[in-house]
Amino acid sequence: MYTKALLGGKVYLKTGWQQTNIYIENEKIALLSDDIFPAEEVIRLDGHEVLPGIIDPHVHFELDLGFIKSVDDFYSGSVAAAYGGVTSYVDFLDPVDNEIDLEKAFHKRLDLAKKSVIDYHFHACIKNPKGNLEVFVKKMKALGMNTLKLFTTYSDSNRRTYDPEIVELLKLSKKYHFLIMAHIENDDLIDLNPSFTYRDLAKSRPQEAETTEALKLAEFTRQTGGWMYMVHLSSGKTLEALIQNYPDILNKHFFVESCPQYFTFTNDVLEHHDGYLYTFAPPLRSAHEKDLLFANEHAVYTIGTDHCAFMKHDKIHDHLSETPLGIGGIEHALGIMRNHLGDDAIEKMTSRVAETQSLKAKGEIDIGFDADLIIFKPDQGMRVHGNHGSCDYSVYENLPTAGKVISTILRGQFVLKDGEFLGGKGQWIKGSDFH
Ligand SMILES: [Zn+2]
Repeated sequence: MYTKALLGGKVYLKTGWQQTNIYIENEKIALLSDDIFPAEEVIRLDGHEVLPGIIDPHVHFELDLGFIKSVDDFYSGSVAAAYGGVTSYVDFLDPVDNEIDLEKAFHKRLDLAKKSVIDYHFHACIKNPKGNLEVFVKKMKALGMNTLKLFTTYSDSNRRTYDPEIVELLKLSKKYHFLIMAHIENDDLIDLNPSFTYRDLAKSRPQEAETTEALKLAEFTRQTGGWMYMVHLSSGKTLEALIQNYPDILNKHFFVESCPQYFTFTNDVLEHHDGYLYTFAPPLRSAHEKDLLFANEHAVYTIGTDHCAFMKHDKIHDHLSETPLGIGGIEHALGIMRNHLGDDAIEKMTSRVAETQSLKAKGEIDIGFDADLIIFKPDQGMRVHGNHGSCDYSVYENLPTAGKVISTILRGQFVLKDGEFLGGKGQWIKGSDFH
């Protein structure tokens, strides 16, 4: 007897939509079949959609910026995520420059994440490393992580990793089978003029800074045969330049992530009376660049939210230097992106995230995978309303969404059932080797 049976759903399989029944045994998907078998709990879906649980590869819960912390902790953020159909996410360790601090950073974050109601993984994070990189990489892998975040900018806070170390890390990524997650902006083209306000965000962090640096890192990737993942691509111009110059490695060795905000808004919102609420890095771009992003959306491999929420009053500052950069978005990402891209959004938010983040048991509805499933009710006339995290606003409020997540199942257990939050017990997911 199966633990659960989901009958009569329209199910999103790797091969596309299919009407089938899903049978769960404990935490795993045990059978897909048109036939009826006995189960302890039977859920009738009457044609509702069943999708793999969303995996968000880019989340900052309880991020400590020194002068302020992001408002969603691992509990409130993961609750909001569950309402949005997210069953797993990847957060970041504090950036460190040696393997001893890496281990400490890992245990610190692991302890904080215990209150998560859905599953989680971490990116190791490196800052301006000067020691033995191979030892660092081996420690990262021994701790169960296969993704390493670095920054090409933020030299002002000593987080920048410089080119020689990036090249060495790329060589190591090939040797040790892991993925380098890069925040890509040319540090020399970033202007931290202390007189800038949030309205100067695009001037402070121009598109050229992203495009030139992305081309440089793609070149390093091609030359070394390493593995790189560009986080939060903001401009369609950058994407177009990558397509034109690096078609051989694009999304084969050099993967591109973008975020819902870059598909949704343009930089003119910064001129609005509440423009300070739309501040993050890299910043919003022009309408032309957003159009280019849509035109080339096939080359965006994954979608992550870069969820990093702050309260309204924390965002109001005269000077850009005092404004914490980041917005929330994890709860509404699926509906917003399906509204933008239709079904193209689904694999960018599920199987491809599992592939790049090396989460082998996640991201697909198939036998043997974790029973991470969501029940989705499409509704074309629907708009975003409210949120379940700690933040007092959402940039997506009142925008069109493709429908609503009715239920979220994590490893065979309902976390959200018919819109009611039941609670959940997330666990750390150990990563597998990348490629
Ligand atoms: Zn981020």
